[in-house]
Amino acid sequence: MGNLEINEPMIFDGHNDVLLKLLTNGGVGAASSFLTGDDGHLDIPRAKTGGFGGGFFALYVPSPEDVSTEDDIFGAMNNPPYNIPLPAPLTQEYALPIVLEEVAILMRLQELGALKICHNTDDLRSCFANGKMAAIMHMEGAEAIDADLQALEVLYTAGLRSLGPVWSRPTIFGHGVPFKYPSTGDIGDGLSEAGFRLVKRCNQLGIMLDLSHLNEAGFWDIAKTTDAPLVATHSNAHAICPHARNLTDKQLEAIADSDGMVGLNYACAFLRPDGKMQADVALDVMLQHLDYLIEHVGEDRVGLGSDFDGAMLPEGIADVTGLNNLRTAMRAHGYDEALMQKLCHKNWLRVLDKTWGGI
Ligand code: ZN
Repeated sequence: MGNLEINEPMIFDGHNDVLLKLLTNGGVGAASSFLTGDDGHLDIPRAKTGGFGGGFFALYVPSPEDVSTEDDIFGAMNNPPYNIPLPAPLTQEYALPIVLEEVAILMRLQELGALKICHNTDDLRSCFANGKMAAIMHMEGAEAIDADLQALEVLYTAGLRSLGPVWSRPTIFGHGVPFKYPSTGDIGDGLSEAGFRLVKRCNQLGIMLDLSHLNEAGFWDIAKTTDAPLVATHSNAHAICPHARNLTDKQLEAIADSDGMVGLNYACAFLRPDGKMQADVALDVMLQHLDYLIEHVGEDRVGLGSDFDGAMLPEGIADVTGLNNLRTAMRAHGYDEALMQKLCHKNWLRVLDKTWGGI
């Protein structure tokens, strides 16, 4: 039985950090707060109101210094230009127990009936049809995986179906972009030898590779290596907001050529033309990015990738219930119902059918 009565069209989303929030709020023991309602952007009661049917749930390992520097980072991002130094790399020894705890939180959410961990697109379709929240286990930054990829095999068996080789911090697999504005992502080296092996093994297993956060050299290394469509789960148009995290026209062209996908990131600093991390962003700016992405990659290759519980959102969104405002704005902007369905969930299903194949 489902647990959502969804506003149409249901939104399936490219990125959230709910597992990090629950980890911070107390770990597995705090998982039940997702069902009753809690702080932050996303929980079951508000997902019902907002018509949020599921998405990619990130396994992300915070750096030890994250808490002490957050205010400094937000302060710097209000005064562009900025170039926030990246935290130091993390060891697998540090990262793996944290990732396992986040996997355990996701499994507890499933046990509690909050969601289903989807392993294939049949699972997704079943959740969409039944109003059950659909979760894809996604890893944002592969610090928990060793160079021999043994942890990858175990995590795949646990349900991992999507992976970004880096969050912005460097890993043994590659390099990410710093929070730098204005800048392209053309900063630093590409994939390591282990990074190329990671890409090939993900292709074999049918794990989707996420290009958001990678620098350009890493992006192009994956583009020339992977046999799957190119996907950036939560990134925007560099032509509108020239932040290092956003995608240049050339990258968008490669994504279109591969029949891949881009999910619109709601983080203010990646939306606003001035790169500021401030919430007074009109929904119209989100529509400008959507228009631009549709124009450059095509209406079958654009979706949503909120960054709920991982970013400062525009005041017109505020939390998952704000998806109703986004739908209203999209319709008022002239998107017809067929396009709404594509942007809200059908394009994610389409690209995952292609990426996961027969798994
Ligand atoms: Zn991210």
